[in-house]
Amino acid sequence: MRTQMLNHRGPEFGVIVKRVTLRLQYFFQTTSLVLTHPASGTGGQESAVVNVFSPGDHVVALIVGSFGMHLADIAEAYGLHVTKIEFPWGQAADPNIVEAQLKSLKPYRGVLMTHNETSTGVMNDVQTLAALVRQLAPEALVIVDAISSLGCVPLEMDQWDLDVVITGSQKGWMVPPGMTMIAASERAWAAHKNAKLSRYYFDWTATRLRLENWQQPGTSAVSLFYALDVSLELMLQEGRKAIFERHAKAGEFIRGRVKQMGLKLLAQDVRYASNTVTAVLVPEGIEGKVLLNKLREHDGVVLAGGQAHMINKLFRIGHLGFFSHEELVQAMDALEKRLHEFL
Ligand SMILES: *Cc1c(COP(=O)(O)O)cnc(C)c1O
Repeated sequence: MRTQMLNHRGPEFGVIVKRVTLRLQYFFQTTSLVLTHPASGTGGQESAVVNVFSPGDHVVALIVGSFGMHLADIAEAYGLHVTKIEFPWGQAADPNIVEAQLKSLKPYRGVLMTHNETSTGVMNDVQTLAALVRQLAPEALVIVDAISSLGCVPLEMDQWDLDVVITGSQKGWMVPPGMTMIAASERAWAAHKNAKLSRYYFDWTATRLRLENWQQPGTSAVSLFYALDVSLELMLQEGRKAIFERHAKAGEFIRGRVKQMGLKLLAQDVRYASNTVTAVLVPEGIEGKVLLNKLREHDGVVLAGGQAHMINKLFRIGHLGFFSHEELVQAMDALEKRLHEFL
């Protein structure tokens, strides 16, 4: 990232944008174009909404935590009619409940869902949910927030027939925050042609036009492209399957250690346990903030707190992207040691 800046309209930078774009397609498992915007993940969520819908469109949001709620909030902010199907924190979107609810609804143009709910450590079964939508409403768009899962765990955009898939640089891609990547199916591009929501910065037509010359509409986040180029090279060297296995092992290891310490996972059902982030209930009698401060100040271990109503009641352990098994062991050892101090 310390490399000299290049002209973002010049040929040398275009070579990088092209290489990054093609490699992203491989990890999205799609033949569709992968667009990038200089923005955080929220920008990717907004890009998904504004490019395929029109004011007043009815969409369904499957919500299992705060990031699912964000996506629904964005849709509402843009004047969509949003029906929310909510599940308690710690649970996944149950396909049987979703099916029954979808059948009782008026026609809808899209279903918004989160692949990996970072606030709860729950991974939805997107493949099953997407198949269900396709069966019940063949023309509805399946919009998937895969911001904290893509590149870490299996997600096959084309095979699973997903319409819009969103991710962000700072999660599994091992790159600093500031870039969001998004791909759209043919069905989504067709919807885009008639989508009337106001948009400018994230407009896909403008973005695609510039991408023909391996550029972006505005000035690219040049140093983030340098970084993503390097991390994609590392990821290709490791191999998609090996990356998925490393994350599966990490999830299992963290959950195992957490249970050994007598702590409770928020996601009780192991079928839906996330392999990129684990949410743990703060034990009774301990203040979450105090525990996390100790770990940060004395052990150099930074864990995240809970979000929304679970602030102070949860802590979350990230195990995605750039980590080694040794680091996970050190972090869990430190957590165990600090917990003992409270006994
Ligand atoms: C991180 C994250 C976001 C939001 O991304 P920002 O980069 O913070 O804007 C959205 N959805 C999920 C699932 C996330 O993990």
